[in-house]
Amino acid sequence: MSTIKESLLRFRESVQPKATLVAVSKTKPISDLEEAYEVGQRIFGENKIQEMTEKWETLPKDIEWHMIGHTQRNKVKYMAPYVHLIHSVDSPRLLKEINKQAKNNDRVINCLLQVHIAQEESKFGFDEQELITLLNDAAFKEYENIQIKGLMGMATFTDNEDQVRAEFKSLAATFNKIKTENLLDSRHEFTELSMGMTGDYKIALEEGSTMVRIGSAIFGNRNY
Ligand SMILES: *Cc1c(COP(=O)(O)O)cnc(C)c1O
Repeated sequence: MSTIKESLLRFRESVQPKATLVAVSKTKPISDLEEAYEVGQRIFGENKIQEMTEKWETLPKDIEWHMIGHTQRNKVKYMAPYVHLIHSVDSPRLLKEINKQAKNNDRVINCLLQVHIAQEESKFGFDEQELITLLNDAAFKEYENIQIKGLMGMATFTDNEDQVRAEFKSLAATFNKIKTENLLDSRHEFTELSMGMTGDYKIALEEGSTMVRIGSAIFGNRNY
């Protein structure tokens, strides 16, 4: 059996059924995704719309495509016909555009709101106050073609496990606050907490992750 197949099976065993495994296939060739598909993988994560769209066009249509990367508003239209879940909604203007393009395609697009939990400046996302402002915004409440399924966050890239754990804990706390205070109306099925990658997924699962995004541990290191 190929290394991709073996690592995928091993991973699935350690994360399921606790969490959903998103196989992050960015930069990887179609043949790698086909190997994963052959052992039943149907959820793939990509961070560039053009690359994801090319793969969607080529591969079987029962695959769920997850956008996990920072997204430019003018490109949303290319994935709007087929994307299953956008993990990386990081601004009110992006959400507005997703709603518009979803409406153009006569569908509802599932979204996660990305929360900035890392110390690094470069990671995108809302802080908790910005999230609460968004959820209370009158325009937001009118968006009928999006469904907010949960939150996503990326921890700081560091060996300091305590720090990573604290960042995931803060994301889980924000998630629970939105749920318990009913900040979203019941149309939104707010159940997903997307956190954890190859280096930190174990901690993420301990802190309540429902969705891990694993790339290099399945497909090997990426060459950019
Ligand atoms: C690339 C990427 C991943 C996967 O990273 P690995 O360390 O290879 O598992 C997960 N989430 C996001 C947002 C990414 O861009």
